[in-house]
Amino acid sequence: MTKLMQKVAIMEPANPVKSTGIINGKSSGILNWNDIAYPSFYRTYRELLSNFWIPQEVNMSPDAKSIVELSPEELRAYKLTIGLLATLDTPQARLIHGVSEYVSDDSVHAIAAIIAQQEVVHNESYSYALSTLFSFEEQKEIFDEARRNPTIIARNERVMRAYDDFIQDPTEEKLIHVIVYSLILEGIFFYSGFAFFYNLARQQKMNATAQIISFINRDELVHGKFMSELLRAVLGENPHLNTAELHEFIENEFREAVESEITWSDEVLDGIVGIDLGEMHTYIKYRANKMLKMLGMDPIYEDAHDNAMPWIKAFVDNFDETKTDFFEARNRSYEKVDADNGFDEL
Ligand code: ZN
Ligand code: ZN
Repeated sequence: MTKLMQKVAIMEPANPVKSTGIINGKSSGILNWNDIAYPSFYRTYRELLSNFWIPQEVNMSPDAKSIVELSPEELRAYKLTIGLLATLDTPQARLIHGVSEYVSDDSVHAIAAIIAQQEVVHNESYSYALSTLFSFEEQKEIFDEARRNPTIIARNERVMRAYDDFIQDPTEEKLIHVIVYSLILEGIFFYSGFAFFYNLARQQKMNATAQIISFINRDELVHGKFMSELLRAVLGENPHLNTAELHEFIENEFREAVESEITWSDEVLDGIVGIDLGEMHTYIKYRANKMLKMLGMDPIYEDAHDNAMPWIKAFVDNFDETKTDFFEARNRSYEKVDADNGFDEL
């Protein structure tokens, strides 16, 4: 029986400013970014801030015209995918907060606060997009479908059960497991949805929604990168947790996630012009390989070393360059963190 973890004290002035351990360590609750255990976390924090956006900077009126051009399959997929994405972003805000309660490093608490804020904005952006395009009754149907759809329930179930189990009875093993599930959610579960919207945009349909999706996509890339760094830090400091069983668990859960994402995409994206379901399967496996590599693990899909849908990357880059700075109504001047803001991860 592993013992339960204790929530980290909010302030403990007797402890040093620089944390003595990422979990079960001593930390004062007073953050000095110049004196942290993992200097790369400051870069993550700044990258998150430089991604700042709000939904209202995207004008939805072109989509209100474009929506009539959607095929019945596309309209159905649009509604289902927005509903699905809301089931991912809403819990993610609480999960990152829950994780940070058991991490004894104040820089992680600060990063978790920004990530949680971004998840809340992602969620708002779906409500914002829908409010322009659908009646209130239709909006309610979209969210009700998201909570009742058997495939959505099945694909989220393992992740949500693990999240709740951790929140109720937090142990070190469960903490590691929810970080892994978080990586699955942010690194795999969003991506058939993202691809659907980029595919519409490359046919000049629903460009405003696709722009919002590209901002969400950019945030999720940083979240996934951070969660993998956090996991590596926890395991690096606690080698007793870095077991063969854990590696087996990670591989199994990635395979399960890929299977359920494939089931979902077959169900929702069948009949969508421009999307080849075989390519989509390979793309999902490619995403899984990418995330495993971020954890320092070997890829598990031999047939998915390359991005089967390279047009996705081009779309996101394009959106990034045309993003306007809504504070100053000119091309964005937020700091660029690196050459392409991490989009090679796509
Ligand atoms: Zn999100
Ligand atoms: Zn996220």
